[in-house]
Amino acid sequence: MVGHAMDQATLRVTPLENFPPPAQWDDWTEYDAAAWPNKVQKNYALVPTICFNCEAACGLVAYVDKSNGVIRKVEGNPYHPGSRGRNCAKGPATINQVHDPDRVLYPMKRVGPRGSTQFERVSWDSVLDDLGSRIRKAILEGRLGEVMYHVGRPGHDGYIERVLQAWGVDGHNSHTNVCSAAARLGYVLWSGHDRPSPDYENAKFTLLISSHLETGHYFNPHAQRIIDGKMKGGKLAVCDIRLSNTASMSDYWLAPRPGTEALMLLGIAHVLLHEDLADWKFLEDWVDWRAYQRAFRRPADFATFRADLKYDYAAVTPDKVAAECGLDQAMLVEVAREIGKAGSAFASHVWRNSASGNEGGWQVARCLQFVSVLVGAVGALGGTNPAGANKFVPAPFSKPSPQQYWSELLYPREWPLAHHELSFLLPHLLKSGRGRVDTYFTRVYNPVWTNPDGAMWIEALGDESLVGCHAVLSPVWNETARWADYVLPMGVATERHDLMSQETHAATWIGFRQPVHRVLAERQGRKVEWTWETNPGEVWEEDEFWIALSWRIDPDGSLGIRKHFESPYRPGERVTIEEYYRWIFENSVPGLPQAAAAEGQTPLEYMRRHGCFLVQDKIYRTHESEVPSTQLQGGERDEDEGVVRVGGKVAGVLVDGKPRVGFPTQSRRLEIYSQTMADWGWPEYATPVYIPSHVDEQNLDRDAGEMVLVSTFRLPTLIHTRSANSKWLSELSNTNPVWIHPTDATRIGVRNGDLVRVTTGNGHYVNAAWVTEGVRPGLVACSHHLGRWKVEGDQHAVNRWQLHDVDFQRLGDGRYLIRRTAGVRPFESSDKDSTKVWWSSGGVHQNFTFPVQPDPVSGMHCWHQKVTVTRAEPGDRYGDVFVDTRKSMAIFEEWLAKARPAGPHSPGGLRRPPHFKRVCRPTEDAFGFGFVPPATKGALPPA
Ligand code: SF4
Repeated sequence: MVGHAMDQATLRVTPLENFPPPAQWDDWTEYDAAAWPNKVQKNYALVPTICFNCEAACGLVAYVDKSNGVIRKVEGNPYHPGSRGRNCAKGPATINQVHDPDRVLYPMKRVGPRGSTQFERVSWDSVLDDLGSRIRKAILEGRLGEVMYHVGRPGHDGYIERVLQAWGVDGHNSHTNVCSAAARLGYVLWSGHDRPSPDYENAKFTLLISSHLETGHYFNPHAQRIIDGKMKGGKLAVCDIRLSNTASMSDYWLAPRPGTEALMLLGIAHVLLHEDLADWKFLEDWVDWRAYQRAFRRPADFATFRADLKYDYAAVTPDKVAAECGLDQAMLVEVAREIGKAGSAFASHVWRNSASGNEGGWQVARCLQFVSVLVGAVGALGGTNPAGANKFVPAPFSKPSPQQYWSELLYPREWPLAHHELSFLLPHLLKSGRGRVDTYFTRVYNPVWTNPDGAMWIEALGDESLVGCHAVLSPVWNETARWADYVLPMGVATERHDLMSQETHAATWIGFRQPVHRVLAERQGRKVEWTWETNPGEVWEEDEFWIALSWRIDPDGSLGIRKHFESPYRPGERVTIEEYYRWIFENSVPGLPQAAAAEGQTPLEYMRRHGCFLVQDKIYRTHESEVPSTQLQGGERDEDEGVVRVGGKVAGVLVDGKPRVGFPTQSRRLEIYSQTMADWGWPEYATPVYIPSHVDEQNLDRDAGEMVLVSTFRLPTLIHTRSANSKWLSELSNTNPVWIHPTDATRIGVRNGDLVRVTTGNGHYVNAAWVTEGVRPGLVACSHHLGRWKVEGDQHAVNRWQLHDVDFQRLGDGRYLIRRTAGVRPFESSDKDSTKVWWSSGGVHQNFTFPVQPDPVSGMHCWHQKVTVTRAEPGDRYGDVFVDTRKSMAIFEEWLAKARPAGPHSPGGLRRPPHFKRVCRPTEDAFGFGFVPPATKGALPPA
């Protein structure tokens, strides 16, 4: 069903009947809740936008008091197809971020030594001049790997990739390898799609390898649909070592030993295969079983494959699996049978959790998808769609050519199969002499605090020979800003444009984030050149910043950059942000112009009014679509292989006699055997298998008190850095104690609230124990989204709802101790609530004590830590964080040695399989090890 006016109207049938209809959003009157019991009317203008506090892109509506132009509240938008008006606490808390008394309002430039926090206010003009000339110089000198943009919270689709490719630099860095890269690899090996899109509301059985419902990924759009599914009679199993909020809502709580989740899934696969609960017709049609058979030199007929597959997974019997995983065998078998009974209506998801915790965690996603494939739950009603079917990214007005450069600071040769950049290793790579960065942007990102090994970031960012200029683009002060040259204030959800789409369910939609004050100013006929003119202070938005900066880099257009930032409507003139989105809405979103016309609006007016658009609903089984005959011209039909080839490449798979599009893999089928893994040095992992984790039981010295620390969860009301400028979120969640089972607490000799010292490979932290039966014995767990700090006396370092003062001690030889000197406390500010702060903690910063542990295949940081947990020692204080960066570097080297580097010996002499996606994909030539960037030909040796 393609989006048109009627479908959009259907969306408005919502149980939230009291919500103002969009037709009344210019002028809405209601009583002021704060004035109760008096009946005081307030008159509002309502402007829709999109939440910026996680990736889910839920719809919001800002209520602007028409008497004074102040945003009074931010509520869920019931007309948004993904969130349907139901937001988590972080959506409405946007209002706190808008009015936070401690936010950064003006661009600032460093005036003292780097790290001194001595800054002064400067103009946007001077910022653009300085950064523009630096970047222009780097481009002219062919230093195309020295301009780097490093994103924490993206919050848009495709915008920055276009900017960087227009500049011709290889400089996109992301947070993905501390987040989801492992799961993405596991998924992509199957289908070419790197993430799942479960159809929870229609599922008969859902299995979550995580704590999604309240503490994980996409949690509100997904959480509400998981509950919808349960309300319809679907069952829910949650695999998590903690009794998470999600697990508490489940029918089955599975808490295997950390790192054994893939084995648990293979045990489920065993039951499906041996109790004949598999969908053999689906496997025959859609799985590339021929490649599987050929790889093991077996007859390539389906009957033999069927027998062989059973044989290959015969050893993972429920009894053995249950014993190894520490699970109840009967429950494991029951869950497997329920999955078999649900068949194609089996929904599943893993994103962070065990996939991002363990060495080999990517195989958790591969094995989970194996279970989905076995029951034919791919793309089916109630099953799990490939994400590409449920995400819609419209094309902008110009697409720059790929850059002719490959940066080994982003994709080092050791990890040719890494799904994303090895971002968290940047300081280790810089300090190993692998390059330098001239101009470095961190964008809504706080690597000193969020990433593992934060002290290594401090050492790298503090060294101007490694990082020439560092600009922090952020709505708030953060720990990383201390080591910046510029701190550039960027907008929150009501202060910026962005376009987003997410795979929240079996549909596609777009959401439009808008600067509320600008929209209202323009509704009133005021001419606005830049969004910062209407935002608080001089808070800007990245979209316009990049346009303005690109013009400074290439003022006369001679570098070929400026043309990508010229108006598609006014040739030769600078594109406005309104024109940028206007063009997309007019040209790239099917059904939107018609829906807008039905309301007598232009497409841009429609999106400004509604803030979202349902592009297509009820999307299932996209792989079954027939290949258009135009794409098969000159093709050869190969009945034995069940494919149609064009130019030697598979262009369609034959199912029921017709060529179907299948999946974006090389075989266009689901690849149970990955030739890519075999070709690129990992043949033992070519099929779904279990890889024992670095925290596997055999790697633990229990006699020495070693345990596993699980840190891959967060409290549901927390963002990352940006919780600290929300008073509501800070009040809701302000401690992150160490979860410990009573048996372990007794062994260690601690009671609830006692201090424990958690010792990792390169340091330790001191935190309070929370003794609970809601965690598996033998391990501890601690949420990693608290423990913000500022060095006592720092100028500008604020966010007083959550930040502690600390004494940052450099102990010499790369050792650091962070010790708090003052807790969170009431303070005077423009917000009267600031004098009522009752909490004194703000949590403990544990990530600082985590050495980097890059998975040898996926490159994902393996978050789980082997630790010892003891009673706090004499002299230890709550919140102490100690780290030794000499050990950090040694551990980095240990993990580096596990990788299997690409080189001229790799297939095609390439750095990476060419069919693997890469963010900001360079030219095909640049994949080769012998490639010399044209600008530097003859001047520099090959990279
Ligand atoms: S789930 Fe919460 S934080 Fe995420 S976009 Fe929705 S409202 Fe915002």
